[in-house]
Amino acid sequence: MAQAEEESSGKMSSAIQLMVRHGKTLIGNLVENARNIRLGLATDGFNPFGKMSSSYSMWPVFLIPYNFPPWECMEQSNFMMGLLILGRECPGKDIDVFLEPLIEELLEFWKGVRTIDALTEKSFVLHAAVIWCIHDYPALSTLSGRVSRGYYACVRCDKNPCSKRIRRADATKLERVKDVRPENNPQPKKRKRDDDDVQCWKRKSCLWDLPYWASLKLQHNLDVMHIEKNICDYIFGTFHGIVGKSKDTVNARKDLEDMGIRKHLHLKRDGNSYCVPPAPYAINKTQKIAFLEFLRNVKFSDGYASSLATCISADGCNLQGLKTHDCHILLQRILPAAVRGIMSKNIYEAIAELGNFFQQLCARTLKLDVLHRMKEEIPIILCKLEKIFPPAFFDVMLYLAVHLPDDAILRGPVQYGWMYLVERRLLTLKHFVRNMARPEGSIAEAYVANECLHACSRYFDDLDTRHNRAGRNRERLDLRKGDISVF
Ligand SMILES: [Zn+2]
Repeated sequence: MAQAEEESSGKMSSAIQLMVRHGKTLIGNLVENARNIRLGLATDGFNPFGKMSSSYSMWPVFLIPYNFPPWECMEQSNFMMGLLILGRECPGKDIDVFLEPLIEELLEFWKGVRTIDALTEKSFVLHAAVIWCIHDYPALSTLSGRVSRGYYACVRCDKNPCSKRIRRADATKLERVKDVRPENNPQPKKRKRDDDDVQCWKRKSCLWDLPYWASLKLQHNLDVMHIEKNICDYIFGTFHGIVGKSKDTVNARKDLEDMGIRKHLHLKRDGNSYCVPPAPYAINKTQKIAFLEFLRNVKFSDGYASSLATCISADGCNLQGLKTHDCHILLQRILPAAVRGIMSKNIYEAIAELGNFFQQLCARTLKLDVLHRMKEEIPIILCKLEKIFPPAFFDVMLYLAVHLPDDAILRGPVQYGWMYLVERRLLTLKHFVRNMARPEGSIAEAYVANECLHACSRYFDDLDTRHNRAGRNRERLDLRKGDISVF
């Protein structure tokens, strides 16, 4: 941070420069030799059977070398699968046992391995270190041993959790009937909050065996991909009142009563039943159709995003099957434009500012002065949203946005720490499964064969392979022809 502030305010900071500077403060002499390897450790669970089985979770662990130039750094073929944890159930705290062999090898690399430089043909000692981990939020808890739910859900705030208990949000049964009777429903049992009893950490992860781990400033990345997806789902679900996704439930209205705020939104007694007054953020059917019609007509340039029209249901009243990248585009570009004219000015402005925040965060080049300004702005944006949406809307995912500029200052551009490329790699592994009785074996065999083919195809420069095939967009190819030396 101190070094980051030394940067002149308007100066561009490339990811690699940030990473090298970050490494210098952390890992001492690791970055003095550009040949030393900086690794990212990525993991997530996936179900190789898809919809055919609901209970199978296989956990590959990837090591991603960051020594490549930015446009090759996060390429799938550079990912090394260090481990494949056998499936059926999520490994939970047993992940430490599975990681032991990998940690042993990493310790060996930290001490140094003598090898030969292919260019100069001289022998030298090669070091390698993990500089951060990439995972989604539940996997962060599995890998680090840090609690990621409850009062201490935010992994960046140990001392001051700032959380408050509200009513349970599972009022889906109530939403299906027209008239609701809140007094007939059993109250959730109120648990006593005892701050002294709550622990932030469940166990000490085996990653702490690495001698440099304690000095890393950014041990675990907050995954921007899942944060964007969740926030987009919350906003979209609440606008459209989608059962199970909307945060505007009966309990949310009762929260308002408990807090004594926004009296016009409290449940109103109507004879023997209660009615739910319409909220300013809920849209009616005509507005819904206009909103979705706008989405249907949006056109993107080639390769920018998938068509949103395919996600709109046949009757034109619902949007279903949104992928994470669709949410990424919706939140940043489309939602602010789509709600303009349909919703009130304060809602439109808050959504537009949130979209702009994520747009700047996900930029290819980050400026430190912009990141510092974003860090000051995001609490104000969240406060604006807080004035619009019910308290149940603000779970940990929305709150984590507060810490994203800090992560970006330490890490650099978001592409080095989000899950998109890891998820794509998992899909490739999923396609490797041909023998459904032996999914891990299929993946291991296909992975080795694939690695061999990659090595061969890179060796034969004069042949037409997937690595030197011309793309559809000539401009992108021209960009790649630059000098690859960044160190
Ligand atoms: Zn926090």
